[in-house]
Amino acid sequence: MVFPEHDTRFIAINDNVDTAKGDNEFAPFKNIINEWYAKDCSRKVKSAFRTKALNGEYTGGYPAYGYMKDPLDHHHLIPSEHAPIVQRMFQMALKGTSCFHIAKTLETEQVPTPRAYLMNEYGKYIANDRVKHPYAWAKGTVYRILSNPIYLGKLVSLRYQTKSFKDKRIVPRPESDWITVDDTHEPLVDQATFDTVQERIKIKQPATWENSNNIFRGLMICGGCNTRMVFSSRTGRKSLGHFCCNKHRRYGGTECSNHYITLEQVRELLLCDIRAHASLAAADKDKYIEYLMNLSEQEWNGEKDSYQKEVIECQRRLGALETILKKLYEDRVFGIISDERYMSMSADYEGEAEKLKARCTELQDALNTFTKQTSDVKRFAELVEAYTDITDVTEELLHTLVDKIVVHEKEVIDGEIIMKVDIYYRFIGNVGDEHGEALKAPRIRRNTKLLMEAGVL
Ligand SMILES: [Zn+2]
Repeated sequence: MVFPEHDTRFIAINDNVDTAKGDNEFAPFKNIINEWYAKDCSRKVKSAFRTKALNGEYTGGYPAYGYMKDPLDHHHLIPSEHAPIVQRMFQMALKGTSCFHIAKTLETEQVPTPRAYLMNEYGKYIANDRVKHPYAWAKGTVYRILSNPIYLGKLVSLRYQTKSFKDKRIVPRPESDWITVDDTHEPLVDQATFDTVQERIKIKQPATWENSNNIFRGLMICGGCNTRMVFSSRTGRKSLGHFCCNKHRRYGGTECSNHYITLEQVRELLLCDIRAHASLAAADKDKYIEYLMNLSEQEWNGEKDSYQKEVIECQRRLGALETILKKLYEDRVFGIISDERYMSMSADYEGEAEKLKARCTELQDALNTFTKQTSDVKRFAELVEAYTDITDVTEELLHTLVDKIVVHEKEVIDGEIIMKVDIYYRFIGNVGDEHGEALKAPRIRRNTKLLMEAGVL
């Protein structure tokens, strides 16, 4: 017993327990039964929440920022007056603004924080110190909003759980245990924007650090070790700055090689490539879309048509099997075939139907990916078309079009030092054509003078 250990006298009148009068033999059993009862209640409440989650009903106490509970149905969410603020936050993040700077902007504009709003609306958090500063947005708040899938119009429930029915501390659940129900309410952001924003907000940057020279912040990746490259600029150089592998800079040549590339080289390379894309799109958009599809279709090896044929064939056979099974059942009811015969035959047909259904889903998934690819390519074509006459790479352009830029180490090809750079665009990925004519894969012929300066050669 806990109480005597701590020199405490515990009296429970109902249960006739008094620790001062010595041990009560019955108390341990009482304790166990009480615990069982509490555990059972906890299990029942949990299972009720689970059912609600599976039905796509909103179970949170307060709606997520940007939404309110539907006055007609309290388990349904509708956009609130704050929806435009959430949408604006996503747009800012898409253009590369960090969570910290989004928070600062909202603070300057005196937008009340979600917490301050909850206090005004529901009287929550009144005792909390932070509501004394109703406009003090924290970058963590911005991060949590931008990474919340609720804004896609889906409910992801049971992301957290309490440690146990006795310990109410909240811990995250493994992602495989989450319950996701799509299309439960109106989305505030589309999937493509959401996905890109997830990449943008992962980029770590010191809150106060703003380097106007480096518009490629977070986008440059070392092709050797697949980590983000570091930017450095030194005064008195012709170049405004350069990128190199972070691992190489920290640990030297044993971990990775230098991957040195200047800001000007990256800019020039990107400018050429985007202009090439834009002029193709502007000249004949349909042809350009077809061209991009062909590049990605190479992986499909023209399998799309055969997939479609197979789906139709699968569905035809599934229909036939259903008729056969019905007929078989009738035969059994009317005593035309024996029970044993029925069992063995129906098991065979049902087995076949299961296999066909699985194959059908597999094919359908593949075809859906293809459809998504087509619409992605169209989106990119529409975006890139606007950039035919660009003369410089701007931050806005980068964040509209580019996912990442992977820099590979130099290699000697036919006596020339060549550096391959893979540009990964949003929606379409890396489409540089190694041997084709329309879009050459971008590469750099190394500038020997710059290399000497950097001490690479
Ligand atoms: Zn590296």
